[in-house]
Amino acid sequence: MDSYDLIVIGSGPGGYVAAIKAAKLGKKVAIIEKGEIGGTCLNRGCIPTKTLMHSTHFISEAKRMQNAGISFTDLSLDYDKLIERKDEVVARIRKGIEGLFNANGVKLYKGVATVISQNRVKVKLASEPGIHSEELVTAKNILIASGSVPVIPRIEGSAIKNVVTSDQLLEGKGRLYKKLLIIGGGVIGIEMATIYKELGCEIEIIEAMDRILSGMDKEISQTITMGLKKRGISVHTGARVLKITEGGSLGLVCEYIEKDNTKTTEAEGILLSVGRRSHTEGLFEDGIAPVMDGASIKVNAEFETSIPGIYAIGDVIKGKQLAHVASAQGIVAIEKMFGHKASIDLDLIPSCIYTVPEVATVGMDEAEAKAQGYDIKIGKYPMLGNSKTLLSMGERGFVKLICEADTGRLLGAQLLCDRATDMIGELALAISKKLTYKELGSIIRPHPTYEEAITEAADDIDNMAIHLMPRRTL
Ligand code: NAD
Repeated sequence: MDSYDLIVIGSGPGGYVAAIKAAKLGKKVAIIEKGEIGGTCLNRGCIPTKTLMHSTHFISEAKRMQNAGISFTDLSLDYDKLIERKDEVVARIRKGIEGLFNANGVKLYKGVATVISQNRVKVKLASEPGIHSEELVTAKNILIASGSVPVIPRIEGSAIKNVVTSDQLLEGKGRLYKKLLIIGGGVIGIEMATIYKELGCEIEIIEAMDRILSGMDKEISQTITMGLKKRGISVHTGARVLKITEGGSLGLVCEYIEKDNTKTTEAEGILLSVGRRSHTEGLFEDGIAPVMDGASIKVNAEFETSIPGIYAIGDVIKGKQLAHVASAQGIVAIEKMFGHKASIDLDLIPSCIYTVPEVATVGMDEAEAKAQGYDIKIGKYPMLGNSKTLLSMGERGFVKLICEADTGRLLGAQLLCDRATDMIGELALAISKKLTYKELGSIIRPHPTYEEAITEAADDIDNMAIHLMPRRTL
């Protein structure tokens, strides 16, 4: 029986990063994966969606430039080819991760893992199709990083053909729906709406809450809603789906209630994007399950479960379901497990939504800061006053900074602009290092760049921002 310092279950961004970190600390490590290496992020999440989005970006840019000296007579789209490129990118990164396992001496088991005791795991190996063998492995520590799966809402008709989750939509070859109805206006719903609208689908969104992206700053969700509507996407909020049936001219009919009125709408495909839940099925043999926190595994501050020596990180525990959070938790869990000091501040989590323009936030928004009793000052700069936004024909957006009134310390930042996701790290560092808005504004930022808007938003707190355009036009 092979024996390790650490067995990791699941090779998503939580699991594979943790395994390599432990190997780099000199530990003997195995990782067990029942599906494709890379988990949801690489195979069915971040990487596929952002690869498709990179492609659709060219379509929106081409449209933007149509009245500005560049025109196309036959801009055409080959959806299968886009999916093929997405698959190639995913395969390349997957190979890269396998290479990292080899380079760092991490042993990969391809099969289904079940924890059978505090330090033993049974692996049902799937090395040859149709033939399964079992292997027992032991380890001083076990780290569970089994991720999450889409929630299937209890709506009649959820199992009908062409009612899909984001996993199935992204498999998508040969299936570009004429009209896609999206149930759930959260992060997945809005990113998919952005991609598939550019691919030529008619899009309609049904969201149960009174606004889409309800976890985000209100002004961001309002501006994104306006942008979606401007691009011809219908958005229904405060709406409850009653049932889905087969029929109509497109194949599917959805009945829903909006503002006390029962309505129907038709679609060729329906995307269910109403959240994800921890994936724990079959992980533990009967009789040894750890204490749960709802549907997720409960852990302490060291990421240890109620069973000593068994740890859990990422989407399988409660918290923000983000790839970068899982990776950071993986590193900290390994550091603590093997007696090192944590090297990452896990309290400050940037959130990004890949829309047009992009959304990126970190720390507190205005409502959160007020709810926590802070007296605040807000600096805001509209992107239509930013040269880089104007020269690149960018959309309406802003950089907003939330600061403590008496000290000037930065508490949070909300960015709605092109490249926001690439700029948010600077603001996370500023919050983490307790910088004030004056310190944030005290460095030279290159011109012309989107990030000049950070300087202007900082200056705006003392009413010193320089606005290129009259404010009422922005
Ligand atoms: P979500 O929680 O972000 O959004 C789900 C939405 O569905 C909510 O707005 C909710 O009110 C709505 N809803 C729930 N039941 C409904 C119903 N019956 N009818 C209509 N609306 C309903 O979940 P998601 O969008 O599925 O994403 C899952 C997770 O993956 C999230 O935690 C998200 O942060 C993460 N994710 C992150 C990124 C990113 O970082 N860019 C991208 C994709 C997914």
